[in-house]
Amino acid sequence: KKRIAVMTSGGDSPGMSGTVRAVVRQTIASGCMAFAVYEGYDGLVKGGDMIKEMGWEDVRGWLSEGGTLIGTARCAEFRERPGRLQAANNMIEKGIDALVICGGDGSLTGADKFRDEWPSLMEELVTKGLRSKEDVAPHMHLNIVGLVGSIDNDLSSTDATIGCYSSLTRICQSIDYIDATAFSHQRAFVVEVMGRHCGWLALMAGVSCGADFIFLPENPPTENWEEEMCTIVRRHRDMGKRKTIVIVAEGAHDRKLNHINPKMVKDLLSNKVGLDTRITTLGHVQRGGPPCAYDRMLSTLQGVEAVKAVLEATPETPSPVICIVENKIVRKDLIKAIQMTQQVAKDIEACDFDAAMKGRDAE
Ligand code: ADP
Repeated sequence: KKRIAVMTSGGDSPGMSGTVRAVVRQTIASGCMAFAVYEGYDGLVKGGDMIKEMGWEDVRGWLSEGGTLIGTARCAEFRERPGRLQAANNMIEKGIDALVICGGDGSLTGADKFRDEWPSLMEELVTKGLRSKEDVAPHMHLNIVGLVGSIDNDLSSTDATIGCYSSLTRICQSIDYIDATAFSHQRAFVVEVMGRHCGWLALMAGVSCGADFIFLPENPPTENWEEEMCTIVRRHRDMGKRKTIVIVAEGAHDRKLNHINPKMVKDLLSNKVGLDTRITTLGHVQRGGPPCAYDRMLSTLQGVEAVKAVLEATPETPSPVICIVENKIVRKDLIKAIQMTQQVAKDIEACDFDAAMKGRDAE
């Protein structure tokens, strides 16, 4: 029986538990054995009880759970070859040579590196006397399939990552709460949302909540943004608006990469526009809570597709990442998707914002 393991890694996102459920159940339904690796790559490096066989009923009720019930972590050891050798040894011990990973671009980069090195890791296990030739012979190829779990919606090649719509929903609910009190007191609120390199949450929250001004990393405001923002906010007030909402992405900056923080924006609204202004940093409420219906659907459909991809893979096919493009669940080249994603971050660092915006738009 083929043995397929599922793991969640990197930053958590709502829908990860549903993904594990879908992978486990589709694996069992396909006549294979399902395993879960607990605590991300930490569990893979530690082995033993951290890699557990999963039954159908072990994931009952997981679809509506937030976060990831098998845990996630950042693991320094896996970044080095000895850590990956240890991980490979633990997988061979359990007879596992297929790994479905739900995480961000860092986790998926690590996974592809692991697959690349796998044949040489097998050789090293034999030469070091850790495993016999017979142990490794049936497992000379590692099968990796990626699923993108991230609240930021920051991976190129897919329209939505697992978790981003739950997070967006939570932000909108929070801004609705803020709106009511802002209206009552005619106040301004500067709302900081997550997104270090990716302004998707800030942009879509702004559109969904009718914000007055939005600060995004990919498309920084004009050089005299202070004046521009104040003029726009004043105009909205002159038109009779009783509240002001300005959304700042965590990674917002000006066109010279100077960080724009909520305090700077608050001081401008207080001192230049004369508004009673407060700051709300939404923080981790954006990551928590139950997944929205869209993320339950996405985690289920993509989890099923990931297992199909494992079963159809050959040593020649490049590692796939499961995406959604124009409402269809599709497989894309994992490495290309990561390269395109990292290119946007590089474009931002080089202040080439036109290229960054094109990169975001690109498939
Ligand atoms: P995310 O997956 O959310 O982007 P990280 O970038 O922190 O999160 O990556 C999660 C984990 O994946 C890291 O702690 C590390 O164990 C592993 N990882 C990330 N990048 C690499 C890499 N280049 N090589 C090996 N492992 C990596």
